[in-house]
Amino acid sequence: MSFVAVAGKKTTDIREFIRDASNTGGIRYRPEKGKKHLIYIPYNEVSVIRDGEAVKSKEIIAISGGIHEWESADGKYRNGVCLKGVYQQDEVGNILNDGTCPICDKIGDAWDIYRYRYENEERNCTLTGPEREEYLENVKRSFLTGRKAKEAREYIYLLIAQFRTDGKGGVETDEEGMPAYDLRVMKMSASRAEAIEQQLANSGTEFAGSEITFEYPNSDDPRLVVSKSTSAPVFPDHMLTRRFPKVLESITEDVNKFSWEGIEKSFGEWNGMTNAVAEKLMSEMFEKWDEYKRELEINPDAKYLEYVGHRANDKPALNVSDVGIPDVGAEDKSDEVKIPDVNKVFSNAKASIEI
Ligand SMILES: [Zn+2]
Repeated sequence: MSFVAVAGKKTTDIREFIRDASNTGGIRYRPEKGKKHLIYIPYNEVSVIRDGEAVKSKEIIAISGGIHEWESADGKYRNGVCLKGVYQQDEVGNILNDGTCPICDKIGDAWDIYRYRYENEERNCTLTGPEREEYLENVKRSFLTGRKAKEAREYIYLLIAQFRTDGKGGVETDEEGMPAYDLRVMKMSASRAEAIEQQLANSGTEFAGSEITFEYPNSDDPRLVVSKSTSAPVFPDHMLTRRFPKVLESITEDVNKFSWEGIEKSFGEWNGMTNAVAEKLMSEMFEKWDEYKRELEINPDAKYLEYVGHRANDKPALNVSDVGIPDVGAEDKSDEVKIPDVNKVFSNAKASIEI
């Protein structure tokens, strides 16, 4: 067979091709600086038994998982699904995952390195007063971000319909005059999801079936684009899925065809890792530290020199492509989403859905 027969994708729809080609991240939802987005949260209606009676309940379409994030030796953002509780064998019975997580196992060491580095900076810092405070604060932030292994954080991967907007609040329409949309998967930290859920509850709506606007500031700092973004529920009467029942029908049809298969193409953390690969990765990353610990047993003056020559407040690694990921250390609450009050929410909503 020729290479083209194997590797060439049959393309029969030019619009689909253009859409695929322009969305290199595939189905992944991405914030955009200076833009206003409008999304709908689809759901499945299921029957559940409550107090002995069958009632209808709305189920969002989502997966979630504990995700480890860390900074590689060359300062790049890396992540992977926590392997704790994952059991996997290959076809001939070799154990690929045994339920333990080599990344979890190194978190203690990563904290020890953080403390070692920070105490070192504290000792050697000659600044005084507010300057010293500010310097050490930056150091702390940078070292926290730079940890080689971090506790897994819960993320939700939520199926949404993103309306195609002109970025200012106007929604593009298709040839039939219906609002145009794309199915996307939005990754949110548990804390961000909780904040949005709370916001929706405060305005009397529920998560499943709601429409939400996101506004991203026009900042050149990608961290601020995400951390200073605001979200607001759309007032029920203004929802596109209510005003255009045909759109809701069409979204529901698409959603029913959706499958999580292949999600790792857009979210690499779902490629997973075998225990052997994860162990190798960790022992490479912690090589110098492990050496230092061994040396310390025979030489109380041993020094850990891996970071000597690194500037303390170098720019931390960024993961700028996700909504809701506080980029500068999960510990920093100031990076959490700012939620406008209810009045502002509704005035925002009105402005955002004009067609
Ligand atoms: Zn883990």
